[in-house]
Parts: sequence; C-alpha cells; structure tokens
Amino acid sequence: MSVAHLDLDDSFARELIGLYEPWAPTPVADPSLVVLNEALAAELGLDAEALRSTDGVAVLAGNAVPEGATTLAQAYAGHQFGGYSPRLGDGRALLLGEFVDHDGARRDLHLKGSGRTPFARGGDGRAAVGPMLREYVISEAMHALGIPTTRALAVVATGEPILRELDGHRVQVPGAVLARVASSHLRVGTFQYASASGDLDMLRSLTDYAIGRHAPAAAESDNPALALFDHVVSAQAALVAQWMAVGFIHGVMNTDNTTISGETIDYGPCAFMDVYDPATVFSSIDHGGRYAYGNQPAIITWNLARLAEAMLPVFDDDTDTAIEQATSLLQTFPERFRLAWSAEMHTKLGLASDVTGGDEVIAELLELMREQRVDYTSCLRSLSSAARGDAASTRSLFAAPEAFDDWAQRWLTLVGDDRANAADRMDRANPLYIPRNHIVEEVLTAASWGDVRAFDDLLDAVSRPFEHRSGLERYAQPAPHDVSAGYQTFCGT
Ligand code: AMP
Ligand code: MG
Repeated sequence: MSVAHLDLDDSFARELIGLYEPWAPTPVADPSLVVLNEALAAELGLDAEALRSTDGVAVLAGNAVPEGATTLAQAYAGHQFGGYSPRLGDGRALLLGEFVDHDGARRDLHLKGSGRTPFARGGDGRAAVGPMLREYVISEAMHALGIPTTRALAVVATGEPILRELDGHRVQVPGAVLARVASSHLRVGTFQYASASGDLDMLRSLTDYAIGRHAPAAAESDNPALALFDHVVSAQAALVAQWMAVGFIHGVMNTDNTTISGETIDYGPCAFMDVYDPATVFSSIDHGGRYAYGNQPAIITWNLARLAEAMLPVFDDDTDTAIEQATSLLQTFPERFRLAWSAEMHTKLGLASDVTGGDEVIAELLELMREQRVDYTSCLRSLSSAARGDAASTRSLFAAPEAFDDWAQRWLTLVGDDRANAADRMDRANPLYIPRNHIVEEVLTAASWGDVRAFDDLLDAVSRPFEHRSGLERYAQPAPHDVSAGYQTFCGT
C-alpha cells in the first residue's frame, strides 16, 4: 500500500460544515523523518516501510496530501487561563482525515506545524523539533501507563529554521511537523464555538457527531445530549484521576485543550511532578498557579461547566430546565472523581478496594511525602519492597524515616497477609520509569540538533514503565534537588 493512497474518510468535513476551513498544508524545504511510531502504524494497518519512504515522509510533512483527502483546519473557541477567546482554531494544524477500523471506530490523522491557516492570528504556523519530540515521548509514556491520550505517529524535521523565544531572546531552532492520531479532536472549545455561533443546527449536528464517535449508547437515551455530557463528565473524571495518580501536570488545561473523548491532548508545558507537592507548577506562563497539580480536579470541573453552558440549548428548549439538568449532573463530578482517584490509589498501595481506612492511610502517606519533600514516583514504587519486608529503599527517601515507619505499620495491617501478591500487583501499578523533566530536557536538546540516540533510549524506557530492566537505573532516579527546584517548562511551541 502506498501512503499516497491512505484510505482516509472525511466525516468531519461532510457533517460539520461551518466548524472548519478547508485548507492545505504548506510544503517544507527538506523533510526528513526524525522518529516513526511503528507500533502505532501497525495498529492502524499502515506499512512502516511505506511511511519511511520519500512518499511517506512527504505525507507526514504535509508536502503531499493523500489522494482524495479533504484537509481542513478545525474551528474552536476556548477559555485560556480563564479568559474567553471566541476564535482560536487550528492555527498551525490540519485534520487530514479519519482511519476507520473494522468495528467502525474512527481515529483522526492530524498534522501539527503544517503551516499557517486562517486561524493563525500572529503565529508562524510552525512547530519546533524539541516540543514536538516532547509531545511524542510524553504521550507515548502516558499510553504505556494506560492513560487515555492522543498518540504521536511521527515527527518530521522540516529542514527550515524557525524563530522562537528562549530566555528572552529570539533564536533560530529547527522546525518540525508532528503527525498525531486521536480518537477525535473534538474539544470543549468546539462546543463553545458552535454554541456561540448561535446556529442551533450546527450545535445539534456537533452533538450528534460526538455521540456517534464517543458515546454511541447515548443515542438510545431519552435525552441523548445530556447523556453525552454525562459520558464526558465520567471520562474526564477518570482521566484526571489517572493524571493525579501518576503525578502528571498538564500545564495548560484551557477549554480548547480539554477533549470530549477523555483523551489527554496538547502536550505543551506538561511535566511529571518530582517531589510530592500539590502546589507544583512547571509552566513558565502559569504565574498564578491556575494549573498547578492540586488544582487539576477543580479546573476540569470548571471546564466541564463551560461545556454544560455551551450545550444548554441542546439539553432542553427551556433554559431553566436545561440549567437544572446540567447542574445536577455537574454536582456528581466531585464524587465521581474521588471514587476514581481513590480506586487508583488503593491499587497503587496494594489495598483491597473495600478495606476500611484505606483513604486515611493514603492521605497520611501523601502528607508525609509533602512534609518531607519526597519523590512521588520513587516512593510509591519502592513500597512494594516494603511490602516484601525490605523498607530500606523507601526509608532512604525520608529525612525523618521514623514517621514513615509508624505509617508503614498501619498500612501493612491494611494490606493484609498476602503481601507477596499485593507487592506484585503494586509493581504493575507503580511505574519505575517516567519521563522525568531533567532527562526530557537533556535528550530534547541533543535531538533538536540531530542526535536522537538519547531520545530513543528514553522512549524505550518509558514505553515499558513497570518492568524493571537493568541498565535503566538513571531513568528511575529522582531529579537532583537543584535541578527540580527551579524547573520550568515552556509553552511547547
Ligand atoms: P495551544 O497553546 O497549543 O493549545 O494553542 C492555542 C492556540 O494557538 C491554537 O489556536 C493554536 O492553533 C494557536 N497556535 C499556537 N502556536 C501557533 C503557531 N506557531 N502558529 C499559529 N498558531 C498557533
Ligand atoms: Mg491546543
């Protein structure tokens, strides 16, 4: 199969007129493949060799469009850091089309960095190699951790330098195009855009389309739109609970970066927390700490309230009834989130889901970690050894290990007698290898300038995060304190 004949459907283009601008990618000077996701290609039924060929790379770079594809820039609005922008949209990205598998499930193929579109505003329409590789490695790590996410299919270097702000200076960095696969690119911001347009038919079509792709069972409900909203609330509660459980900080939870599918999207200034502290913020642009680790459940609730507002006209013709329905559903969020998060944490601590006192023991451990500035991932992973009878590595993480000893006694009572089995389960729930900030930065710098060896090594480590392998010790080490304290991530452009 040649890549020029990629069999892409265009349901978005057909069904959602008004929610996009037809647009073509801007060709780049000298495309070269930096990394290709062969496992994902296989999942999609694509031939990796064909993707690596000159024709394949041309498609991944936006220099060629698959035959018959209707490429388009999607329209969406969004609240960015709480402020509303009525027209954001794909300023530098395009939907190439949709793969449809045997069961009828659709996945978008999307390019990011493919040139300016009518939504570009001030931007150059391009993306840099470093941030696109960052999205690649972190989204693959999330996938390997079992967390719903968009996937990266490939990063192609464009051969064209672009200008980016670095430490207050404008510098030239190598440009790139990321090919991304997602169960859709529908966002809260897509509903905000449709709703604000005042075109009720458009909002209805979007709702039906989202139901078809993400919540087909909702179509059978008495109120399909409300059932879709209910589905999104559940999906986002589960997603953010998983983020919290692995210490992931998204960094820019704007409503345009919140999906209807419940997949993590738009890896900009995201990072994994080192030391456990709910106030942790990495993003250089997040001055107020709006998107701090511990704020994420509250922010997703806020974003879901914006979705509810946008969907009110499709919930009910009578606005008061619609508000009442949406509000009572939204009010279920905290409990749904709490249950999902608590279940994650019980598993991580080797506790049966119905054990009495589990939530207290979890809260006490987190408080100890916060007080003693303990590395979150290392601590949780080391607990399986403590369950097996060797607490030395966990103790070594605490400045005052006696407090940990006290806690461990209470915890082990709750784990029960079958500690060997509990420890094995814990090792399948607590990753050893995550993309730690200090290593991510190091490998991206080298890869931006053409040396991808360290990037490939990191990718290999985080692709099998739970399985101990010798030689990978480095990826399991907490950041040196001086590095993690002042660590900042930039808005991944
Ligand atoms: P993000 O922060 O990546 O979620 O992007 C927010 C908005 O800015 C979206 O509408 C993007 O399409 C747009 N944008 C970001 N970077 C660029 C760029 N280099 N050129 C054009 N638009 C951009
Ligand atoms: Mg975005």
